[in-house]
Amino acid sequence: MKIIFLNVPGHGHVNPTLAITAELVERGHRVIYYNHPDFAPQIGQCGAEFRPYPEPQPTAVQLNQKASNLVSVTIWILEQSQRLLPWLLEELRREQPDLVIFDSICLWGMQAAHLLALPSVASIVTFVQEGVQGMITWRDGVALVRQALPLLPSLVKNRRQLVRNFGPQVFPHPQIFPCISQTNLVYTSREFQPETDFVDASFHFVGPSINTETRETADFPWHLLQNGRPAVYISLGTVYHDKLDFYKMAVATLANHPAQFVLSIGRTTDIVALGSIPDNFIVRNFVPQLELLPRVAAFITHGGMNSINEGLYFGVPLVVVPQQMEQTMNARQTARHGAAIVLGDRPPYGRTNPTDLRTALDAVLADASYQQNAKRIGQSFREAGGYKRAADLITMAGCQP
Ligand code: UDP
Repeated sequence: MKIIFLNVPGHGHVNPTLAITAELVERGHRVIYYNHPDFAPQIGQCGAEFRPYPEPQPTAVQLNQKASNLVSVTIWILEQSQRLLPWLLEELRREQPDLVIFDSICLWGMQAAHLLALPSVASIVTFVQEGVQGMITWRDGVALVRQALPLLPSLVKNRRQLVRNFGPQVFPHPQIFPCISQTNLVYTSREFQPETDFVDASFHFVGPSINTETRETADFPWHLLQNGRPAVYISLGTVYHDKLDFYKMAVATLANHPAQFVLSIGRTTDIVALGSIPDNFIVRNFVPQLELLPRVAAFITHGGMNSINEGLYFGVPLVVVPQQMEQTMNARQTARHGAAIVLGDRPPYGRTNPTDLRTALDAVLADASYQQNAKRIGQSFREAGGYKRAADLITMAGCQP
């Protein structure tokens, strides 16, 4: 099969697709993968043919700047669709793929596949939900409405413009997000997915798509973990990592803790700005997270869906300090299953203090039920089939008349 993969420039959106891409290539399919050139090395390493979007490209910086406001990220995506759709329709007409795979916020991918009636698959890196119903408190709701109201006219204008240019079929579903198809892949298990009427037979819960070989690696001093202390990993992911105050607070709070800490502070945060680093801390701008997680006893995370999935896949209990609403929902779902303690989940998110952080960490380390629950969810992830089942489903979708 010739498969066209369309994604957005975010590690959280790309990482779960790497193992699937490598598997599809391994099975003899040709995968042409569009994204920003920053992702070319990782995608190329999976055996896919990388192609950039036309200039001016959607960038990770743009996406990250909008990420904490659901309406402004929606407007940005509508604007990208407006610009990219004519090019993509042309590209797909020329390439004649057997199948299109699009990320569930890659609106232009869903729209082009739908307008050309091409078989397609959606890649959903979050929980499945229509909007945020049932998942947020009134407090979150008030914060959301406050953010949304001033931007709504621009959202409506952009949506109308797309309909005017490409016809009403450019929005085939009542909701904009998630962008869905006849086959929708979700990287969690059915057990861990919150209940919602939105889920139907088109959604396939394949679990996290984990293959360490397809992921970016980095040098790491593994021998420093062999000191008999339990290891604890701290990361705020690839978007919300610019939180020097949080890192300084965590380092100061945990400097005299008996555990060995690994702190990933993100590529743009300066390690020197942290000041002196205690002996029980290893600080890096990037760590090979999938290789590290099987060796740690707890994970202090921002609650990005990949970090939650990857932590639980390896049976690691979590302390979640969410930085925005979607991560708050991920965190609460993990806490509901008894595998996490959540801190700072009220707007403005991400606020915690030394006492709460230390107390929460000590609780997940001392109370075995957190680890047992993490292992139970991890088991459900493994049974869900991962990237191999995803590749089976993609192959089936491409063979349908
Ligand atoms: N990641 C990594 N090393 C790091 C920090 C992050 O490999 O030092 C990876 C992590 O394994 C995950 C992704 O980056 O796959 C972060 O995605 P997530 O959805 O957790 O958060 P986001 O970065 O989108 O906020």
